[in-house]
Amino acid sequence: MSYKRFIADLHIHTCLSPCAELDMTPRRIIATALKRGVDIIAVSDHNSAENAEIAVRIAEDRGITVLPAMEITSYEEAHVVALFDTIEKIAAFQEVVYKNLPDGANDERLRAYQLVVNEKDEILSFNKRLLFNATLFSLKDLVDAIHSHGGLAVASHIDREFFSVISQFGFIPEGIQFDALEISYNTKRAKADAMFGAYRSSSWITSSDAHHLDDIGRRTTAFFLEEASFEEIARAFKGERRIEWSDGVME
Ligand SMILES: [Zn+2]
Ligand SMILES: [Zn+2]
Repeated sequence: MSYKRFIADLHIHTCLSPCAELDMTPRRIIATALKRGVDIIAVSDHNSAENAEIAVRIAEDRGITVLPAMEITSYEEAHVVALFDTIEKIAAFQEVVYKNLPDGANDERLRAYQLVVNEKDEILSFNKRLLFNATLFSLKDLVDAIHSHGGLAVASHIDREFFSVISQFGFIPEGIQFDALEISYNTKRAKADAMFGAYRSSSWITSSDAHHLDDIGRRTTAFFLEEASFEEIARAFKGERRIEWSDGVME
């Protein structure tokens, strides 16, 4: 079997995330990723996937694969990126996440807009939910819910001092089956190897966690796959396909 090398950036926020720039529309994200030679991206907004469908649609026939995704905050304030293969599956998962969000409305006076847009960058709606807040899911329940909806669970930026599983728990709790661990763009490979050697049996990836167009592709992971698909990435996470990354932005 021959494998091809695919460059992936599996953690990108759109203008639906209150902390992302308003020009992070799916159309511009895809255009920027294509320009930078990224083959696979995941659109992963905080606790919502309302811009994922349009991103998947825009990417059709453009030579780039978009995985619908979401970055969910557990009750303990640990971030987890959930990757899915279809809009139907992430929509079902989103329903469960919305039921587990705290009540209350996003205060747009704080200028933290949460925009749902179309393929022309026109605003369709303002999401009024408290998307940046912690959900009611414990970390274990969250990872179980991702798996029962057919998704892959990636512990976000485990090297970060806030909003990561390790910052909130001190370690990766036993019995929680992450499919992969993500190292942020801040930490060099050698340092990650030294810090997280205990977790070497897990698959590691690195991503941009882009909130600005300029961030896209600042860190990427190379996957050696038969094709750019969710199933092949799942195989890579299981150790059946090669994964490589280093400090280089693009190789
Ligand atoms: Zn995060
Ligand atoms: Zn993020």
